[in-house]
Amino acid sequence: MTFADLGLSPKVLSAVTDAGYTEPTPIQAGAIPHALLGKDILGIAQTGTGKTASFVLPMLTRLEKGRARARMPRTLILEPTRELAAQVEENFIRYGKNHKLNIALLIGGVSFDEQDKKLERGADVLIATPGRLLDHRERGKLLLNGVEILVIDEADRMLDMGFIPDIERICEMIPFTRQTLFFSATMPPEITKLTEKFLHAPVRVEVSKAASAATNIIQRLVKSGSKPWDKRETLRNLIKAEDAELKNAIIFCNRKVEVSELFRSLLKYDFDAGALHGDMDQRARMQMLANFRDGKLRYLVASDVAARGLDIPDVSHVFNYDVPIHAEDYVHRIGRTGRAGRSGKSFTIATKSDTKYIDAIERLIGTKIEWHDGDLSTVVASEGEDEAPRRGRGAPRRAGRKDDDRKDRGERKPRERHAKPGAEAVSETALEELPAVADAVVNDIDQRRTRKEAIRSENTERQASSERSAPRTPERGDTKPQRDRPARHRQEDNDATVGFGDDMPAFMRIVAKV
Ligand code: AMP
Repeated sequence: MTFADLGLSPKVLSAVTDAGYTEPTPIQAGAIPHALLGKDILGIAQTGTGKTASFVLPMLTRLEKGRARARMPRTLILEPTRELAAQVEENFIRYGKNHKLNIALLIGGVSFDEQDKKLERGADVLIATPGRLLDHRERGKLLLNGVEILVIDEADRMLDMGFIPDIERICEMIPFTRQTLFFSATMPPEITKLTEKFLHAPVRVEVSKAASAATNIIQRLVKSGSKPWDKRETLRNLIKAEDAELKNAIIFCNRKVEVSELFRSLLKYDFDAGALHGDMDQRARMQMLANFRDGKLRYLVASDVAARGLDIPDVSHVFNYDVPIHAEDYVHRIGRTGRAGRSGKSFTIATKSDTKYIDAIERLIGTKIEWHDGDLSTVVASEGEDEAPRRGRGAPRRAGRKDDDRKDRGERKPRERHAKPGAEAVSETALEELPAVADAVVNDIDQRRTRKEAIRSENTERQASSERSAPRTPERGDTKPQRDRPARHRQEDNDATVGFGDDMPAFMRIVAKV
């Protein structure tokens, strides 16, 4: 079957040819002909199956007739996260290059004014996250009664993020006569109920589940002690062991706080890492993603919310720094690698308290995951602490942790960030400052490398001259290679502060006593 067999318009076909696609994927072949006829679709498919084009291409064809009116978008696509919304916009731009369509993207983290202007001009295509869409509606800048086609994408993710009430509200604002295209990777009861309420005689198109699609991914469990410094060391060792095969990696954490802490730790150890979580400033998020896609960052530490559904082709490795609590997240996480028929590798760091989550994952994927180097019965916690946890051992968790988790699920009311990049990078409140640190890293990647080189050669020179002038006293832990020790343990180690600006706190200047 070819795209020409599906009934798409010549303009769309020409853009698809330019994109280099010759054969429709199963979800495209199954959904497009029905979508072109105006039927409702229930697509059960996850990202990576070509599902975005399965709604974008027929929408473009159908939009060729008619015009948009001010503040009355003709079509609406709802996405759970800003990144997915931006990705859909990219698809409209790519496949709609022969059309003159106004596309408006309504997502959190950017100003309302620009978005208002686009709505005012009349949007043919409106792509939005539910929270920001409702905010615009409440401000009276948006009318939904002109929407002819409604797309609800990643519905199960919307459910996880608590967006279902918003989705219901939005569905009720749109005329009954609309066409609805509904996509979900799984069909939990709440989603089935939603489809029964809002779809009319939908054509059901189901493509193979993620769990079975993951056969080209080598999956391993890796035992670890349960302390954060044990896990970080396990991760670093894994990364080093995989170095030859590792092109780039996404490292998943369960919480934003861990994203932040691990990101900082990796930076301290000279890894080219970026971070992505749901509470980061939008510009920093997009910039991080772009840098990761372009290969400027080799590692991306991410939360599920931020990374779900992202289309980053050619990710060689996925590391689960935490075992996901929801088994389905495991499938989505490892699905970031091994895309488009490539092979991939995933390593899941597991501690003794993770056993029940591992069991649930194995039940879901219907197979046992092999242990990399012995199972949990052979785990030996690392001796002592090679890296102090940020809060200090035994210190109470930060208040508001629950709040952080809750916030990571939502998009509404992102906090304003006024922090000065760099200066705060080593202070205590890791989470709040992450966007600023992220900004600093993004803006600083190249300079960082250059500065590091300069500092290294300065250090070598200084050391050589002090060796010439005085006999050398051995430094504590001298047997360890320099790169493998945390910054705070190194003497005169300017290296560790690179990327954190010049405001190095006093504790990092302390010279180790010998
Ligand atoms: P999606 O499931 O929409 O996230 O798409 C996953 C990837 O498949 C994207 O990089 C698309 O550009 C690509 N893709 C979409 N349709 C096709 C096709 N017919 N043939 C090959 N690749 C495709």
